[in-house]
Amino acid sequence: MNNESAAASNFIRTIIDEDIASGKYNGRVHTRFPPEPNGYLHIGHAKSIYLNYGLAEDYGGKFNLRFDDTNPAKEEQEYIDAIIEDVRWLGADWEDRLFYASDYFQQLYDWAIQLITAGLAYVDDLSAAEIREYRGTLTEPGRNSPYRDRSVAENLDLFERMKNGEFPDGSRVLRAKIDMSSPNINLRDPVMYRILHEPHPRTGTEWCIYPMYDWAHGQSDSIEGITHSICTLEFENNRPLYDWFLEKLGIYQPQQIEFARGNVSYTVMSKRKLLRLVQEGYVNGWDDPRMPTLSGLRRRGYTPEGIRNFWEMAGVAKANSVVELAMLESAIRDDLNWRTPRVMAVLDPVKLVVTNYPEDKTEWFDVPDYPQHKDSDQMRQVPFSRELYIEREDFMEDPPRRFYRLGPGREVRLLGAYYVTCTNFVKNEAGEVVEIHATYDPESSGGSTPDGRKVRGTIHWVSAAHAVEAEVRLYETLFTQPDPENTPAGQEFTVHLNPDSLKIIANARLEPGLAAAGVGDKFQFMRQGYFAVDPDTTPERPVFNLTVTLRDTWAKLQQK
Ligand code: ATP
Ligand code: MG
Repeated sequence: MNNESAAASNFIRTIIDEDIASGKYNGRVHTRFPPEPNGYLHIGHAKSIYLNYGLAEDYGGKFNLRFDDTNPAKEEQEYIDAIIEDVRWLGADWEDRLFYASDYFQQLYDWAIQLITAGLAYVDDLSAAEIREYRGTLTEPGRNSPYRDRSVAENLDLFERMKNGEFPDGSRVLRAKIDMSSPNINLRDPVMYRILHEPHPRTGTEWCIYPMYDWAHGQSDSIEGITHSICTLEFENNRPLYDWFLEKLGIYQPQQIEFARGNVSYTVMSKRKLLRLVQEGYVNGWDDPRMPTLSGLRRRGYTPEGIRNFWEMAGVAKANSVVELAMLESAIRDDLNWRTPRVMAVLDPVKLVVTNYPEDKTEWFDVPDYPQHKDSDQMRQVPFSRELYIEREDFMEDPPRRFYRLGPGREVRLLGAYYVTCTNFVKNEAGEVVEIHATYDPESSGGSTPDGRKVRGTIHWVSAAHAVEAEVRLYETLFTQPDPENTPAGQEFTVHLNPDSLKIIANARLEPGLAAAGVGDKFQFMRQGYFAVDPDTTPERPVFNLTVTLRDTWAKLQQK
């Protein structure tokens, strides 16, 4: 993957190049990521973060992290902390520029007074329902509120009393006085302030009126000297409103640029839906490895580099689209491929007894950690003994000719150790194979034999006496449909939840070195997939998450 060429062209870069050429912001580039702390960040947010941060990086500019924390009813400190952790994990560095819209509450209040004084804002006593009714529709103009023509003095008095807590929630609002017949509904006297007797995570009970997002967002960008205020398409029709506010206030104006949200198949990204999955117990919290949240993906074993490469590949566009999950998984696999050591883990163990191997003997074989790196000679030692575990599916009682693994009379290579030939097998009363017997060729150590005899199959194994018993959590997509939001009338997206999205293997057997792995450590379990150590892990009982399997359907499609 060539990052630079992917990054080289997108319409936002073209705009910035032009702005630099024309000296619009004296050549400055200053971007920001402005989350609302009402949920955890998801992979779509990572697109916005890397876009904004990447532009600042590439143009030698600056990047801010700013919380648009204007709605205390839905916002919580837990979300603020999680968002900070996630943005830091992605590697987007805001240096010392972590801001909050709530830092600007006093300034926003003063600016509201400025607009009232200029006759450009008024206190409205209509209820929320009446305001909606007066607003009109896309085809019908709105109607003026009967309170629209209050005097400046009366507005100033009422607004101050709103602020002082004299009125109950919902009884009054402050509105901009723009144009109730504007074809752009955002300009039909939008609400600037509402009364909310609700403590705020940062300002406590200092305020009982709170600015609307639309009244806070553009001015926050302006205060911070943002040059290119990048947001998603749904804000296109808000741009004239943001510009109106900044113009009437006579303050610095950033350039807003809209791009299409990034979506990924087989998941949902609306924070409201993600919150439901958590609250209604469909998943085990925001950081459940099946969630598209950054904390979930991190726990699952995804890497920031893999996510960044994925969004680079997906590109930045003006039209909404859904990117295939297979492409995301492919990018993660590419990153994990070079990063992870190869280890042996048996997920569905069955015993293999090497009958001609001494009972009390252990040999330690040198196995390369990074066989995918031609120039790495880092080795570890793996114990071999008479009793091993192999994968149940690597043995067949009556195998077809093209089954290159173990079966009666068949010979395979045990990865990094000896050749073994199956001599016998034992079944329990239920007819399950419980033990396989084999003999080894003492001459075959190191993967070949003096007679140059070839075997087609190589299987992985662990020494039974030395193996670490571990819990391994296997995941499938959380939904069975590529577009879970597309439901038959009257049905909810939850009907598409995949009942098999989590499968727990209680007794996987791993090579002993893995007992020392720490939370977040990543491995390729050879022939199985990439796995990461879960925070639930303990030294007595390691817990691993399947990050992604080895089957790269995306890469295969690209080759065709
Ligand atoms: P809500 O729908 O609840 O407002 P949101 O996803 O817009 O949720 P914000 O906290 O407002 O959440 O998002 C912060 C920033 O991330 C915004 O600038 C938003 O445009 C951007 N963003 C959100 N979702 C995506 C996405 N899927 N792809 C790209 N950018 C996104
Ligand atoms: Mg939003």
